[in-house]
Amino acid sequence: MERNIGIYNRILIMLCVTGSILILILLMLYFIKDKQEKIMLDESQVQFGKEVNSLLTLKTATLRQVVFDYTFWDDFVDNLNTFDSTWYFNNIATILKSFRIDYACVYDTNFKLIYEASSDGVAPNGIIDASAVFKLNETRFLSFFQATNNGLMEISGASVHNDTDQTHMLTKPHGYLFLARRWDKDNIAELVNLSGAEIRILQPTDSIKSVDEHTIAVVHVLQGWKGENIAKLHFYRNSYAYKLYHRMSLFILFIIIFSFLAVFLIFHFSTRKWLNRPLKLVMSILKSDDPVLIEKLKQSQGEFRNIGFLFSDYINQKHELKLAKDKAEESDRLKSAFLANMSHEIRTPMNGILGFAEMLREPGLTEEKQKRYVGIIEKSGTRLLNIINDLIDISKIEAGQMNVLHSDTNINDQVEFIYTFFRPEVERKGMTISFKNGLTGKAACIYTDREKLYAILTNLVKNAIKYSNEGSIEFGYSVETHCNASQTQNILVETHCNASQTHGHTVETHGNASLQFYVKDTGIGIPTDRQEAIFERFIQADIEDSMALQGAGLGLAITKAYIEMLGGKIWVESEEGKGSAFYFTIPYTHCVEKEPVIAKEIPAAAAKVEIRKKLKILIAEDDETSEILIITGVKKYSREIIKVKNGIEAVEICRNNPDIDLVLMDMQMPKMNGFDATMQIRQFNKSVVIIAQTAYALYGDKDKALAAGCNDYISKPIKMNELLELIDKYFPKEAS
Ligand code: ADP
Repeated sequence: MERNIGIYNRILIMLCVTGSILILILLMLYFIKDKQEKIMLDESQVQFGKEVNSLLTLKTATLRQVVFDYTFWDDFVDNLNTFDSTWYFNNIATILKSFRIDYACVYDTNFKLIYEASSDGVAPNGIIDASAVFKLNETRFLSFFQATNNGLMEISGASVHNDTDQTHMLTKPHGYLFLARRWDKDNIAELVNLSGAEIRILQPTDSIKSVDEHTIAVVHVLQGWKGENIAKLHFYRNSYAYKLYHRMSLFILFIIIFSFLAVFLIFHFSTRKWLNRPLKLVMSILKSDDPVLIEKLKQSQGEFRNIGFLFSDYINQKHELKLAKDKAEESDRLKSAFLANMSHEIRTPMNGILGFAEMLREPGLTEEKQKRYVGIIEKSGTRLLNIINDLIDISKIEAGQMNVLHSDTNINDQVEFIYTFFRPEVERKGMTISFKNGLTGKAACIYTDREKLYAILTNLVKNAIKYSNEGSIEFGYSVETHCNASQTQNILVETHCNASQTHGHTVETHGNASLQFYVKDTGIGIPTDRQEAIFERFIQADIEDSMALQGAGLGLAITKAYIEMLGGKIWVESEEGKGSAFYFTIPYTHCVEKEPVIAKEIPAAAAKVEIRKKLKILIAEDDETSEILIITGVKKYSREIIKVKNGIEAVEICRNNPDIDLVLMDMQMPKMNGFDATMQIRQFNKSVVIIAQTAYALYGDKDKALAAGCNDYISKPIKMNELLELIDKYFPKEAS
């Protein structure tokens, strides 16, 4: 398996490898330096040894030279034979002073001491070992050290010869001269001065004390006349230059290691802070999308900060995309369910219409059966129409094409109308219905969209009836004021304020007041978990609902949309099995006092003067079925019926037939629509009665039709009795 090492760890490994190489190089350098130091020290040692030897040779040279100079001398030879103490005193004793010598002695050829002299403080006895005198007979010269009562002494001796025998080897010795010098403190101090080294005098058995590694030391053995070890001179000198060099190199080594460690630590911590932590954050964010971590990343420095902001945008977009996707999926699912439900909802009444239409063909049907079948067809048609109307309404709401048309509306009239309209149906079910108005008189006139308010109330009351089998239905409204002292609108309302507000009194208040409507029933109720969903479009189709009775499930969605358009809100309180109470509010905006509208100059009166006669009627309709229906309906009132299929033809016919009494104008036609056609007709014929056929679907068509110059309007699908009532209105029978 391939190993995946993180960037931070790679950097650490790189640092460690670099560090190891550096340390290796440093160790090598240290090793070389050590070696170098040793070589240099050894060389210094050798050099020092040579220096010490030369120094000691130089030091002992005087004594040897003096002995040598005095021992090939005829005068001395003569005096050895004829012993003259004065000569000895004058020539030998003076050596002591002249050459700073401490002791001098002379032996004859029988090795008998014949003269000796010593400096102050030096005891002469037994200084020279007797055997050394014998030895001198052989060697003629002797230079050695001897430990004496007077301390360590340097001794030089030579046999005495005539002037002619400078080498002391040609002739026999005539006697022997020994000179000795004490190696006292002064002597050693002189040596110290000359050598620049410390000196210790050690006994032969003394071991040499170890000196530190940067001290060069030389041991010089002072030998007796037999070559034996009399004493040791230990010279040692501190090598400051090496010491300094050693310390400096150690210091530099230490500085390099310390600097490397410092660089390593700084690199480690900064990499951790600036690279490792943000990288870990990035990884965690990618795994979890956690907004807290994103905020943390935004606090970092440099590129990671920008990455943090990019993440923020990315997460927002992702979230929005997810919401959009969920919504699209949900919509898709709901729409499919809705379509399935719609198919069922449309097929069911269609089944009734087609099935019973077919059954009407059966020969010999009784009148009673015929009426029943026709009734069923009518009912199914109405149900179908309701569904289509709901569909159109909801699609208009969704497309934002549903307009709000405010006008003065008497809500008490509406409430009472609805009561009267639904009472028979409620009583047929064995239930009771009651209403309560919260305002009286003029105060009940509000400025709102009359039709929408009507549709809302109707829908809620219809549902109350639909979903109740026993008990009662109550509906009505009250005024809710939002008790604010500064409000002063001159309207009379009942308030429901607490404390300082009066209840049930007539007060003056301002526009913050609202009307709260309610529709209560004692029906089946709505489960709590559905109480929100029932206001959502298509939900009905999506829910396995045993209680949902026939309906597209759009009623409450439309109701809610209408209420919101009017500036209110809707909610429900319901308990399963006990009943439901739907509440909604709309702003209480008092009627605008308006000048009475001056009626448009429409020649209705002119029409009215005509007696009811057989009319010349123009039917402008592009749909053949509707045309047949209208012709069938108005045939009995007509003397002549002209049919056209579009607006252009309608205008043309009117222009050529000024005797036309009535135009039934479809508003949606090809080439030229009914609105334009009416406007053109009105330019040359103001008296003809034009009745618009408008599809309820096109909300606002009614007003548009009237504005175009129509006398009246009738909604499609046309109910024949309504159309005939309109004809009666404009062409009354009793007039003569
Ligand atoms: P529908 O055309 O099915 O009545 P609505 O949108 O008017 O559609 O109502 C949605 C759902 O709300 C209904 O299917 C029903 O389950 C529930 N509902 C509405 N009004 C009532 C009520 N008064 N009592 C009980 N349930 C109700």
